[in-house]
Amino acid sequence: MGAGQAGLHLGIGLLMGGHAVTMISNRTADEIETGFVMSSQSMYGMALGFERELGIDYWQHTAPPYSAAQMRLADSEGRVGLFWQGDMGEPGQSVDQRIKMPRWMARFEELGGALVIEEADIATLERLAASHDLVVVASGKGDIGRLFERDPARSPFTQPQRVLALTYVHRFSPRPGKPAICININPGIGEFVSFPGMTRDGPCEIFTIEAIPGGPMDVWADVRTAQDHLAVSERLLRDYFPIEAERIDGHLELTDDKAVLRGRITPTTRHPVATLPSGKPVFGIADAVCVNDPITGQGSNNAAKCAKVYLDAILAHEGPFDAAWMTATFETYWDYARYVVDYTNMTLTPPPPHMLAVLKAAESDPGIAQLMANSFNDPKSIAPWYYDPAAAEAFLASRAVAA
Ligand SMILES: Cc1cc2nc3c(=O)[nH]c(=O)nc-3n(C[C@H](O)[C@H](O)[C@H](O)COP(=O)(O)OP(=O)(O)OC[C@H]3O[C@@H](n4cnc5c(N)ncnc54)[C@H](O)[C@@H]3O)c2cc1C
Repeated sequence: MGAGQAGLHLGIGLLMGGHAVTMISNRTADEIETGFVMSSQSMYGMALGFERELGIDYWQHTAPPYSAAQMRLADSEGRVGLFWQGDMGEPGQSVDQRIKMPRWMARFEELGGALVIEEADIATLERLAASHDLVVVASGKGDIGRLFERDPARSPFTQPQRVLALTYVHRFSPRPGKPAICININPGIGEFVSFPGMTRDGPCEIFTIEAIPGGPMDVWADVRTAQDHLAVSERLLRDYFPIEAERIDGHLELTDDKAVLRGRITPTTRHPVATLPSGKPVFGIADAVCVNDPITGQGSNNAAKCAKVYLDAILAHEGPFDAAWMTATFETYWDYARYVVDYTNMTLTPPPPHMLAVLKAAESDPGIAQLMANSFNDPKSIAPWYYDPAAAEAFLASRAVAA
């Protein structure tokens, strides 16, 4: 249930594995294609590789690739406190979900899947649970996901940590040098993250402004139109990220009149199994049960990785898909996802000293910069030293000895 990044990936994989699949979507392909943007959906090597395994990476050669990541900490006057840039092992790319999901819906139907357009509710889930061996809820941030109980031990926040404003633009030049994902932090105020993407009319630049709630960039409450959204974005960029504002070529232009999104997300992990009134269990996947703030660009990647874990587990399983199987399958995913949760949450809160020490070391040690650039692909790859003060100290000491 839910024709997004995780639902369609899993549904297509199951069809290819010989299963019969019904997909419930609350929007038609046409409504998705002509609707508002939903994400900046920057994706990296591992997740893109899982799509490639299913032959659904249709944009591998057409979406603009980026092969580096950079991070800059600078104040509103452009005084730089920290800067590193590293190469990524495999390029990342971002394909507007308004293009991607309709194409995947068509592929799902080509493979014989049954696509049903319906706003799913509990009665829908009951109906599906009565007629199917397994019901997977892939509703993303949709309200029906509240069916899954919040797991307080895995959810440190009870409030959104950022106010988000997403925009797809033209007339914003790529940074000189290698195309890169650019992360800019103005301490105490918020972040500006940009990278190249592909939207309905071709290449563009996509950026997200992440405002600390109550801070000077939290100015979106009265913004109503897409043009107002664009004007506020440009002003914030010039006021708080002057180095990035140099990339503006005259004035920014929207790629289309639905190329904007505003919102806020409370990072939350939920218990992966919910029990319907009939007593039947349903299984949550991706954002429905583990949603992060987009600051580190992990949600679509997580959705692809969660779909891969669930797909492999379903294909390998014999016997009923009961609550114990669901819990064990989610725990396999959580072994990875817990690093993504920590990685993202550490970026939302004032950085602990050991994290700052690692980022500072990346300025002068290209090897560390490269490891950090590749951490977007796999946040687990920088464990334990990015997450643990003692491990960070030992890691940095070993780098110094090697140097
Ligand atoms: C501003 C912003 C920027 C982002 N940037 C990035 C990024 O750069 N990189 C990255 O990896 N991730 C990013 N993300 C996150 C990423 O888009 C999501 O994490 C990802 O799409 C989640 O996949 P999903 O399959 O769980 O949910 P979705 O892709 O959201 O799919 C859920 C689907 O379920 C449908 N649905 C919901 N409720 C119902 C219902 N009751 N009945 C039927 N259908 C229903 C929805 O319409 C939707 O089609 C960003 C998110 C935001 C908000």
